[in-house]
Order: sequence, then structure tokens, then C-alpha cells
Amino acid sequence: MGVLEIRNLRLALNGKQILNGLTMDIWEGHVHAVVGPNGAGKSTLANTIMGLPGYRAFEGDILLDGESIREFAVDERARRGITLAWQEPARFEGLTVRDFIRASARDKSSDSIKSALDRVGMGPEYLARAVDATLSGGERKKVELASIIAMEPRVVLLDEPDSGIDVDSLERIFDAIRFFRERGGTVIMITHSPTVLSHAEHAFLVCSGQVTLKGTIDEIMPYFTGKCVPCDHRNAPALDSRGGEA
Ligand code: ADP
Ligand code: MG
Repeated sequence: MGVLEIRNLRLALNGKQILNGLTMDIWEGHVHAVVGPNGAGKSTLANTIMGLPGYRAFEGDILLDGESIREFAVDERARRGITLAWQEPARFEGLTVRDFIRASARDKSSDSIKSALDRVGMGPEYLARAVDATLSGGERKKVELASIIAMEPRVVLLDEPDSGIDVDSLERIFDAIRFFRERGGTVIMITHSPTVLSHAEHAFLVCSGQVTLKGTIDEIMPYFTGKCVPCDHRNAPALDSRGGEA
């Protein structure tokens, strides 16, 4: 069943057309991947779905459970269960990990916060740590994912969940995504990595602000080996270091 329907999105930023009639169906309780070259408009798509300031003036529509959310501001979309984890791990200088997770948690008990942290493979010794540059990029990303687990959103957009992450942490992130999906959550992962793509169930190839191909993982995977037939974008993807000869 389609939880999120993206219909013919068109968006210009600073006079430049970035999204060019992008259409995408997102299925409830499934994991989706969005791949495509740098500059294709993937992050713009995520920001537009989230309704961030500067990304509201689009043509087309975004439907959540069949209802248009185009007039909703970011906080209203968040209240209805859409959340976005940024490509760059957020920094909330001054907050402890505990307070950062608690801020968005549905269940604000200590046990719930500890178990969300445990889900991403981080022990209680992190609770009192500050969310700042003393955490590594990977640790900040895991803390952000823990906060999403505690938030229990319906749809989570992950913009390059693997960037700046070591292999072990990435496995933790996949575990957390699996846990979230098992509880009925819907996931959209934007990625440059065949490894991340292989953890999805449906995939979309985005080029020049349009979906040029959609299908199973096997149908989209050839993009990473240079067989991006429907796409004439000049930025051919570099093989991901973790992806091997996917
Ligand atoms: P991707 O995430 O697929 O790499 P982005 O969505 O970040 O691509 O960017 C798509 C295009 O939009 C790029 O050409 C980028 O330079 C441009 N772009 C992104 N944000 C802005 C902005 N705020 N103003 C103008 N152009 C932008
Ligand atoms: Mg991006």
C-alpha cells in the first residue's frame, strides 16, 4: 500500500530547475533506496518531502495516506510521522546524548532511551556525553538514528546513511533499519553505495531531477557497474569502496 505518493514534483532553486517532474510511490513498511549521480536532486527531494524552508515552492503534490501535505510546514509533517536524517550528522552543541534522544522520544523513560541507544550498538556510557565534535561522525550518526528509533516515526528519510561510517557501524545502522521496518516503519535511503542499495526492497534511479528507472534491487544494481542505460548524466558513479564488484 502506498503510504507516500510523490506526484510530478517540480522545484527550482535560485532559478535553476532541480526537480523535473519526479514521481515515486513509497510503500508502507518497506525499505526503498534512491540512487543517482551527484547533483541529481536526491537531497533536494528529501528536503522537499520534509518541507524544509526554501523547499516549499514546488509544483506537483506529495500525498501522505492519500492526503496532500503540500501546505504543511516541516513541524506539521514531522507530527504526522515524517522524519529526515541529514546527510551531515546533526550537532546539537551543549545537549547530552540523553537529552537529545529524549527531546524527540515518544516514550521518555530512561529505559526507552537506553534501549534506543542499545539498538545502534551504543552503551549507557554515552548517555552523559555531549552531542558535539567530541563524538565521531559515525557516533553522531548513530545517536541520530537512536533518536529516530525512540521517535517512532512512520516514514524515515535517510540521506546517505553510510557516509562517514565504518563497516561495523554501518551494520548497526542496517540492524536498526531492520528493527524499525519490522515494527511497520517505512524507510527511504538515499545512497551512493551498492551495499546500502542491497538492503532495500525497491529502488529508484534519479537523474536530472526525474526517476529514470524503478524496480527491484537487481534491476537497479547495474547502475553501479556503469550500465546506467536510461541515464545520460555525465557524472558516472564511482564504485563504492565498500561495494566491491557489486
Ligand atoms: P544530490 O543529493 O542528488 O547530490 P542535490 O539535491 O543536493 O543533489 O542538488 C541537486 C542540484 O541542485 C545540484 O546541482 C545543486 O548544486 C543544486 N542545489 C542544491 N541546493 C541548492 C540551492 N539551495 N540553491 C541552488 N541550487 C541548489
Ligand atoms: Mg545529496
